[in-house]
Amino acid sequence: MIPSILPTYNRTPVSFESGEGSWLIADDGARYLDLGGGIAVNSLGHANPILVEALTEQAGKLWHTSNLYGIPNQQALADMLVDLTFADTVFFANSGTETCELAVKMTRKYFHDKGQPERVEIIAFEGSFHGRSAAGIAAAGSEKLTAGFGPLLPGFTQVPLGDTDAVRAAINENTAAIIVEPVIGEGGIIPLPDVHIRELREICDEHGLLLILDEVQCGVGRSGKLFAHEWAGITPDIMMVAKGIGGGFPLGCLLATEEAASGMVAGTHGSTYGGNPLGCAVGLAVLKTVSDPAFLEDVNRKAGLLRQRLEGLVAAHPDVFESVRGSGLMLGLVCKAPNTDVLKTCYDAELLVVPAAENTLRILPPLTISDDEIGEAVSRLETAAISVN
Ligand SMILES: *Cc1c(COP(=O)(O)O)cnc(C)c1O
Repeated sequence: MIPSILPTYNRTPVSFESGEGSWLIADDGARYLDLGGGIAVNSLGHANPILVEALTEQAGKLWHTSNLYGIPNQQALADMLVDLTFADTVFFANSGTETCELAVKMTRKYFHDKGQPERVEIIAFEGSFHGRSAAGIAAAGSEKLTAGFGPLLPGFTQVPLGDTDAVRAAINENTAAIIVEPVIGEGGIIPLPDVHIRELREICDEHGLLLILDEVQCGVGRSGKLFAHEWAGITPDIMMVAKGIGGGFPLGCLLATEEAASGMVAGTHGSTYGGNPLGCAVGLAVLKTVSDPAFLEDVNRKAGLLRQRLEGLVAAHPDVFESVRGSGLMLGLVCKAPNTDVLKTCYDAELLVVPAAENTLRILPPLTISDDEIGEAVSRLETAAISVN
């Protein structure tokens, strides 16, 4: 008999009742140290007082009016994102994959309005992830995401990750854009070299293509910069943001230059809940906190500490771990033992990590994790490593 929840998830048999910073408290009272952060979502930890206050204050005033009217929090968040980034304009959605839908629509409309409606092809990378919508699975293209769901939305082609020559070879007169995660998330925490990201920007400029960056997982301070592409010193034309910007409240943002967004006039796109007062109140509080240079400096310091400790862990347990990779507080432990076995012993040590492709475990702690908690996390990983056999 089918369960009352559609069985599309592989769930671990544990449920949580409350959270405090980097900790999750299970219904039996056990305290788990959370290095998963709700898959890079709880950027400021659980039940962060700043976010609780922002949400409850707004909740007492107004929840929803629709985009038929002005929404002051949405305006303030858009202005702040425009101030802090390459973007001239922002569309608000509720999730990452919705921003992928708009990125694709915006790209098509851009070339349509330029009188080149045949330019609809978007080059994406093998092993990438852009969400579970029709556009998202067609973009990523992997069998795992697409099997059984055809016919897929046309207009996407995938090339091997990091292969600049393959990108060049894939370009033809119908190419419109390149979509890429600066740090691959689901695909196994693989940071793309800065030089490769700069090459993609150059290729886009050369051929008049739009560069779409998917920073849904690596954005909002996770990499140690407000957005990961800043490390490469380039800017995109379109950027997808979600996960960390809402700190746990559903919020997605599609950022764009005025040029890329030029076709998106009144009536061309919309969302009932997108940019609602609650989500934008939380988003504003997250962005104010994370964009503080002192906050980002501390993320980088802690990232260095955690990375060094993880390198030590890998060296001490070469039978369990192979290497550490990533950017900032978006780290991957590449495992030698099956990552699902290590995941299991981590649960036993009351430590939460997230599996990813390529036999990797993702370490995505709240950006507010303390030095002591980093020490505790590594000591629990040590315990977990010893119990794997
Ligand atoms: C999670 C994720 C998405 C999809 O976001 P949802 O909010 O689950 O729709 C898209 N791209 C990347 C890189 C992601 O990590």
